[in-house]
Order: sequence, then C-alpha cells, then structure tokens
Amino acid sequence: MEQGASYFGVRDLRHVEEDLDRFADEGLNAILHTYSERDRLFYEETMANVVAASNDRGFTTYVNPWGVGKVFGGEALSQFLGKHPGDRQQLVTGSREHAACFNSPAFREFVREWTRSAVGLDPDVVFWDEPHWILPEWFDDDEPDDAWVCRCEHCRRRYREEHDAPMPATEDDTVRRFREDSLLEFLDEMMAIVREGGAENAVCLVPESDADHGIADWKRLAGGEYIDLISTDPYWGLFAGDDVEGFVRDSVDRVTDLASTHGLRSQIWVQGFGLPDDPSTYDNVRTATRCAAESEVDSVFMWGYDGCRSISSIASKNPERVWGTYLDALPESSP
Ligand SMILES: [Zn+2]
Repeated sequence: MEQGASYFGVRDLRHVEEDLDRFADEGLNAILHTYSERDRLFYEETMANVVAASNDRGFTTYVNPWGVGKVFGGEALSQFLGKHPGDRQQLVTGSREHAACFNSPAFREFVREWTRSAVGLDPDVVFWDEPHWILPEWFDDDEPDDAWVCRCEHCRRRYREEHDAPMPATEDDTVRRFREDSLLEFLDEMMAIVREGGAENAVCLVPESDADHGIADWKRLAGGEYIDLISTDPYWGLFAGDDVEGFVRDSVDRVTDLASTHGLRSQIWVQGFGLPDDPSTYDNVRTATRCAAESEVDSVFMWGYDGCRSISSIASKNPERVWGTYLDALPESSP
C-alpha cells in the first residue's frame, strides 16, 4: 500500500533530502510536494530538483496546485487574483470574491501553464486538491443568505451559449448543474494535459457532497476519461460529529466503491493538522489510519508531515505525537 504525507515550506534541497531520508526510514513510500503560484514563479527549477530527489529515493511523487487561484485547497496566496481582479468569482449581488472563476479564459490559460509546469517537474501524479466554487458566507456576512456564485460575464456568456437563454438571477437546478459542468470541464481540460505529459491524475473531494462547493455527483467525476485515482479527506475535526470511525468508514467505502466501478485507484487522507492534545486525538488518528489501511484503499496520506508542526496557524498542539501515532498505525511502519 502507498503510505505518504504532504510536504511543504522547505525549499532548500539539502534540508529536503534530510527529511526525505527520514521519511523513508519512518516507512513512507510516497510524498506530495505542494506547488503554489509562488513556487512556479520563483522555485521551478528547485522544485524539479526536489521531485527528482524524491523519485531517486523510490517515492511515488505527487504535486498539487496549492491554493492556486484560491479554488484549490492550501495555505498559499494567489498572485493571479491580484493581477486579474476582474476574473474573480462574482456573487449574484455583483461583488467579487476571493477566488478565480473557472470560466475565466485568463484563469484557464493560467492553470494550463501551471499544469504544463507541474508535469515538467516529473512527478508520478498531479493531485487536484479540493477544487471548489466558493460559498459566499466564507467571506461576507453582509451578503443575503441566498447569494450565490458565479454570475460573472464569462459565466453568463457561457450559460447563454449552452441554454440559449440568459442566466437566471435566482439559483436553480440549471445553475447548479451549470456550475458542476463548468468545474468538471475545467478539470478535464487540465487533466488531459497531465495525461499527455505522461503523468497520472488524482482528484480529492471534500467528504461533503455539496453542489454549492463543486461536484455533487462523484460518479460523474469518477467516470471521466482522464482520472486515475479518486481521493477524499475525511477530516473529522472539520466535518464529523462524534462518530469519527463511522465518518471515516463512509469515506473509505465511497472511494473504494467508485474506484472498483470505474477502474481507478483510491486514497484516504488522515487529518494531521489543527488537532488538540487530548487522548481522543490519538485514538482518532489511529482509528482513521487503520480504518483506511485495513480496507481496499490503495493509498493513505497524512496532511501534513510532522503533524503540520511548521505551519503555526494550523499545527496540531502536539504535532510530534500526532505524527508518531500516524506512523505507528501504518501497516508497514518502521521497526
Ligand atoms: Zn464566473
């Protein structure tokens, strides 16, 4: 089984190599390198060396569009939004939000360039992490409850072309379907570039299947032409009630069912960030890791390495213990 973690924040190859050697000693065989807008702009060659160092050590290597356009997950800023304020998602009320629009031609070109660059780093897999439309309440308490995205000029034009009618001002099923179609088409276009470049595609969806976020119908995604691996991240600290094991198991069943139906591989992410230092944390890390490892899942990862120790805003309270618990619960842990 693949067992890995996400890795970020270190852009000095010497230090990266020390960490990679440690991860190998700790029993990991896969690694995800975050590849933000900033990385592409300033660290492209460095990142190629980081990926090469990972490949050389026998890791399965992933890269992801960390916070790119703020439509993917991640603790990274987006320069695209600053340079292209008119290509942000637009609420029905007219205000612009802090994320790029999937239907913006400028953003599509930007992500095509990101994708070509990411494939050029020579990873095994490009990991499309939590692609989403925004929910207005994330940013604006002042907006009405029924506010929605996106009603920008690009979306309105595209909607009119497809429906031969103007885009409604009230959110309805056709709008929701249009939003999901737009996101799936966007991903397909980018994933085709990855496939052509000889790498594989993984898509990670948040466990809430909510059309407002992105893709409500996971079967549509899993049945697509270019996807190789379906992934979800049952982060109990964000989404679950008391029954963490049941919550993780639902996610495991969901991705393994889809994977077997559509001939894909499956992956589960274990929460390693933002966890309190109390006994339930370590029970939950152990339970989630074992639940995934003892299933048909092909790949288990923790977000992120060392319990996110280096990102103070989301670090677990006792990151070393979170990390140690994860490693210990993996089936092929180090002696
Ligand atoms: Zn739009």
